[in-house]
Amino acid sequence: MIVNLISDTVTIPTPEMLDFMMHAKVGDDVFNADPTAIILQEKIAKLFGKEAALFFPSGTMTNQTAIKIHTQPGEQMICDKWAHVYNYEGGGAAFNSGISCCLLDGNRGMFNAEQVKAAINNPENIHLAKTTLVAVENTTNKGGGACWDLEELKKIKRVCQEHKLAYHLDGARLFNALVAKDETPKQYGELFDTISICLSKGLGAPIGSLLLGSEAHIKKAYRIRKLFGGAMRQVGYLAAAGIYALDHNIKRLSIDHIHAKNIGEALKKSAYISKVEPIETNIIIFNLDKSINENNFIQALTDKNILISSMGSGKLRMVTHLGVSFDMVEKTIQVIQNLKL
Ligand SMILES: *Cc1c(COP(=O)(O)O)cnc(C)c1O
Repeated sequence: MIVNLISDTVTIPTPEMLDFMMHAKVGDDVFNADPTAIILQEKIAKLFGKEAALFFPSGTMTNQTAIKIHTQPGEQMICDKWAHVYNYEGGGAAFNSGISCCLLDGNRGMFNAEQVKAAINNPENIHLAKTTLVAVENTTNKGGGACWDLEELKKIKRVCQEHKLAYHLDGARLFNALVAKDETPKQYGELFDTISICLSKGLGAPIGSLLLGSEAHIKKAYRIRKLFGGAMRQVGYLAAAGIYALDHNIKRLSIDHIHAKNIGEALKKSAYISKVEPIETNIIIFNLDKSINENNFIQALTDKNILISSMGSGKLRMVTHLGVSFDMVEKTIQVIQNLKL
């Protein structure tokens, strides 16, 4: 039994999901003629109360498309210093859109409306890059699956409206936040101009991401997706996995959250661990005691068939997902309790 806690992207389709994919009706999506992609797009748009949505191969491409929709070269985006859009998309904001980033010093990947206000460049000052976009991430990845306070997101929305800034949500793991905080997709749909959602994380689809927005945004996104090389042909087989995931795999995210909390409790009691970040969803981030070598620790777990990842600067990460069963959690806890280094 191998327990893969490296990421929630490692899931493979269940037989039921695969069967549903195999029976999808497909067509050429570059001509907007794939019936299953259209069903998925209409389904998610309706769920969030948005006008339209578009299927993409990756979350990086949905985020990068949103940035390109909302900005012109030379402009500036405000985001957290830990944001995926800044750190983990290959420098794409600069490469694809020619923009710079103003990084806020947030807490676990989250900032507040005052910080946003203070970071907006005076549009009358020609020396400064024009601020045109604010991007937030929920849940935060590097912040350990932390969930935003909806009231703070509303305050930031007001700042965006006052200063005519676009407001994008990197919601790669938004459904984890919705389940953890008992919030609804519509509460987010009405706040943000655009939202990206990953189907290939906790929702358990093999591939796929969705961008949501107004008709006008999605019309632009349709062109940008082609420009980025992300327009695909008989994509309905993948879109079917997304439909299946939305129908079956949202509520069960709470199981992943319980599993993460239980593993976190075992880590807290371990003599080798100096700190475990608060666990709100399916991500566990912890630091080792100074006396423990990080590589030795990861190897000791690997030897017991438990796979985890390093996030650099002493932070280690475990992520639970639908491929992690109750028995696997029990095994992980036992290994942590009995580890000899
Ligand atoms: C995974 C992830 C993405 C998208 O990543 P892809 O691997 O390109 O699908 C975007 N934002 C966050 C916060 C993520 O965790």
